Amino acid sequence: MEKETLKRQEELTKLLNEYAYHYYVLEKPIVADYDYDVLYDELIKLEEETGVILEDSPTQRVGGDILKGFEKVTHETKLYSLNKCNNISGLSKFLDDVNTFYPNSKFTVEYKFDGLRIIAKYKNGKLVQAATRGNGIVGENVTEQVKTIKSVPLTINYKGALTIAGEGVITIANLEKYNRTTQDKLKNARNAVAGAIRNLDPKETAKRNLDVVFYDIISIEDPKLVPTQIEAYNFLKSNKFKTGDLFEVCSTTQEIEKIIEKIDSVKAKLDILIDGLVIKLNDVKAREEIGFTAKFPKWAIAYKFEPQELTSILESVEWNVGRTGKVTPIAHISPIELAGATVSRATLNNYDDILRKKLKLNSLVFVRRSNEVIPEILGIAQEDENAKPIDKPEFCPCCNSKLSTVGPNIFCVNPTCSEKNINRLVHFVSRNCMNIEGLNEKIIETLYKECNVKTFADLYTLSFTDLEKLQGFKQKKINNLLSGIEKSKNPELNNFLDALGIDGVGEKTSKDLAKKFKTLQNIINAKIEDLINIQDVGEIIANNIKTFFTNNNNLQEIENLQKVGVEIKQQEANNVDETNPLFSKKVVLTGTLPTYKRDEATHIIEKLGGSVVGSVSKKTDLVLAGEDAGSKLTKAQNLNIKIINEEEFKTLIAPYVN
Ligand code: NAD
Repeated sequence: MEKETLKRQEELTKLLNEYAYHYYVLEKPIVADYDYDVLYDELIKLEEETGVILEDSPTQRVGGDILKGFEKVTHETKLYSLNKCNNISGLSKFLDDVNTFYPNSKFTVEYKFDGLRIIAKYKNGKLVQAATRGNGIVGENVTEQVKTIKSVPLTINYKGALTIAGEGVITIANLEKYNRTTQDKLKNARNAVAGAIRNLDPKETAKRNLDVVFYDIISIEDPKLVPTQIEAYNFLKSNKFKTGDLFEVCSTTQEIEKIIEKIDSVKAKLDILIDGLVIKLNDVKAREEIGFTAKFPKWAIAYKFEPQELTSILESVEWNVGRTGKVTPIAHISPIELAGATVSRATLNNYDDILRKKLKLNSLVFVRRSNEVIPEILGIAQEDENAKPIDKPEFCPCCNSKLSTVGPNIFCVNPTCSEKNINRLVHFVSRNCMNIEGLNEKIIETLYKECNVKTFADLYTLSFTDLEKLQGFKQKKINNLLSGIEKSKNPELNNFLDALGIDGVGEKTSKDLAKKFKTLQNIINAKIEDLINIQDVGEIIANNIKTFFTNNNNLQEIENLQKVGVEIKQQEANNVDETNPLFSKKVVLTGTLPTYKRDEATHIIEKLGGSVVGSVSKKTDLVLAGEDAGSKLTKAQNLNIKIINEEEFKTLIAPYVN
């Protein structure tokens, strides 16, 4: 039995050292931290059981080897790792142990930043050296690299000798910004930092906009200045070092538990990667007496959150046609439990993304799930010998028509592609759009296939008899659906815009457009320059909007919606004289006007706070009729609705327009 255990110890040692080499030296991990930690914990347990610790056991080592090309720096004191726990009982045991030595101890709680540890030395108020932790005894001299990091002060007020520790980090926003400018995208924030600082070219470090967050004083000429972690934190702050945003002082497990719960629920929204909290004994003198194990201080512990990153096998890639015709890949992975959910699908942005991440089928890939965010594939961990390349689709997975590539994206341009059209309809009826109750994807699919509902307007022509034919549609369901459709006929402008499904125009942009332009016609008429003036609308989205509203099919579709009674609610009109005769009036345009084009007349009416509707009903206030006016004119006459010609219209509006 013992022989077998020893064999396992050897196996684990070999495996963990191999993983550590990829992680620390090559900076390309081949397994997730969690998987590493599980094997590491198993090894510790076996070492305790057998009492045997192999010479090259990773439990006796801190960090990794030194990269060739860097000057070596021998640290003034050994730099330890941190003991870890991932549950409250582990934390409570740590507090109890410390309190046995020093009853009523105070503890500080800080973020555990996920980056690269940096040791900085100051003399006479000047930064004289910066080094990586390396193997804890010898690190790499990265002074020139760290000097490029703007938040690291090159001079400080304190003039005594000072050695401090911090973590090199990158904000998620800066990582994304960097990734937008480069072909060789970086996988995650931690790798981005390590790769930037352990880079022989300091210019590369500078490009990535890193920060160093300092958290510990390793040595100081006047130790009396910092007898506690609280004073150390304040000292760092007053010398203008960047420090962590979280710094709490607690005495009990319960107090710390509350902070853990709070941070755990918001960690995904932080702009910096953290993988836990560090709890440290506040009193420095007490720390010295408690001391260290071979690997970590006994006066501090890291509370690690549930992992957000794991590995899984990439089984297949499915291509879906979205509402704009964009064909996007979804990865199917072997199911894993990740951040509180079973994950078996993950997003991939486009084919370029697949190539860049060097993804292949059957390979082990890193999957990350931050709270509330759809899981994403970060990149390849290990390529399997049976790995197969992922093919770029040439034909639409739904209608089989030839796909076209636009930039990094692939599109199905077939106007009758059913998947695309069904998705357009699903989006159209959704809550933030036309908000039609009682319609879900499945029902839309049925309506599309069995009731010939192909366009938005088709939804509004559905009748009781159409729906009666469908399986599972009883009177109540039909009435509910029809009333849901009827109720949706008066959308707000922003919801209507969102519903149209213009590429890149979602909830927020729709609201911004509605707020700025007030009417649909104004948006249709808007110039690219006006559109770009809106916050968050760049050239691409402005072009999408312009292209959408210059496409006759789209304009026709909007007109068709008006014809079936869809009428956008009036936006609050700015500076409109509410006594003008068109204010809040529903006007129908019919026939050809002698001088005004249709959209010009619409524009004037909407500017004065009126609305143009598609069909004549009892609710219509006014009909503006030109030559060859047909059935609308007759209907208006029958309903006794006021009818005017262009001349009369001009007289009517003259006092209110300039
Ligand atoms: P660690 O990352 O678990 O914790 C210690 C480190 O935390 C310190 O060195 C410091 O850099 C950092 N830290 C962040 N915030 C801090 C704060 N406020 N106060 C003090 N320190 C703070 O330990 P480690 O020895 O650096 O690395 C071991 C870990 O690395 C493992 O648990 C594993 O997750 C990972 N690892 C992964 C692989 C892999 O293949 N995926 C291989 C080797 C190691």
